[in-house]
Amino acid sequence: MPGDTPALSPATVVVHAGRPPHEADQPLNAPIQMASTYVAGGALEYGRYANPTWSAFEEALGALEGGRALAFSSGLAAVSTVLDLVGQDGVVVAPRHAYLGSIGQLGELEARGRLKAVLVDIADTDAVIAELDDAALLWIESPTNPALEVADVQRLVEAGHEAGASVVVDNTFATPLMQKPLELGADIVLHSVTKFLAGHSDVVMGALVVQDQQLYDVLKGRRDLVGAIPGTLESWLALRGLRTLHLRVERSQANAAELARRLSEHGAFAEVRYPGFGAVIAVVLPTAEAADVLTHSTSLWVHATSLGSVESTFERRRRWKGEATTIPEGLVRMSVGIEDVEDLWADLEQALERT
Ligand SMILES: *Cc1c(COP(=O)(O)O)cnc(C)c1O
Repeated sequence: MPGDTPALSPATVVVHAGRPPHEADQPLNAPIQMASTYVAGGALEYGRYANPTWSAFEEALGALEGGRALAFSSGLAAVSTVLDLVGQDGVVVAPRHAYLGSIGQLGELEARGRLKAVLVDIADTDAVIAELDDAALLWIESPTNPALEVADVQRLVEAGHEAGASVVVDNTFATPLMQKPLELGADIVLHSVTKFLAGHSDVVMGALVVQDQQLYDVLKGRRDLVGAIPGTLESWLALRGLRTLHLRVERSQANAAELARRLSEHGAFAEVRYPGFGAVIAVVLPTAEAADVLTHSTSLWVHATSLGSVESTFERRRRWKGEATTIPEGLVRMSVGIEDVEDLWADLEQALERT
């Protein structure tokens, strides 16, 4: 990137990082380079090791998070790659309300005798610290999906390192625009690129970002060996989506804050959870039935899983078998998009009348 100034604002980095050089006849965007193999003797060699389209995405995300990024085939492929680093019988301390796939992997690895998972309330800093003594890895997700608990990332990173644990932060909900875990000392940042980074409900992809060269090499070596690589087209779409991250997050966050305020004043809910930033709200209806009526009574809001896209989506989380039983049956996770907030509210208001 020309003029590689570290002081650039994230809004500029998002637009400029990972572009070809400003030279005659260079395209402005990294091309979609479909290749399984390259002429021998260079840096790329084979399509499982490298691809210039992934590299462009990695360069942009690395610049945003302040480290070096590795793209993966999905967020869960990135989760699996990190958990692979934990030695036999290693202890992993993780949020009890982490993403259900992350919890699922921990549970499965524990059942196979690979490691020990200790699940904690990640918002209760003292309780987390109390479990860190024997930990090999502290897993932070903040805000959590879908409970929206917020962790004291800086304090937990310090405590994790004091206890000799590595620390990974799943930064999917906050995005690097709101939280930069590497600056807070974390060893690894994890993303489901599928969500806010790509942002258009058309890509499944994941990423890890680190600062330490040795750790980068280990994770890259793991990806080379296991082959959990992203598709070339997906990488291109993810980078295309990333270019507007700041605008999308700004708008969807403003919409979410306004909707959270109105939902809190509405009488229909046992609880409205909004951490005060981000674009995800969780509302708790009195029953699963009322939640199902809500998610089936709208015309703009789409009943669908996933989050972080331009369009507003929502779902009752307990419809998934793997969701923690401590998540209320009537909890609906709402991912607020970038539409007009009055249109979103009118659609919700008429649906709420039916619950
Ligand atoms: C969706 C999600 C994941 C998993 O990512 P995929 O891209 O779906 O594999 C991990 N963490 C969080 C917080 C998520 O929301």
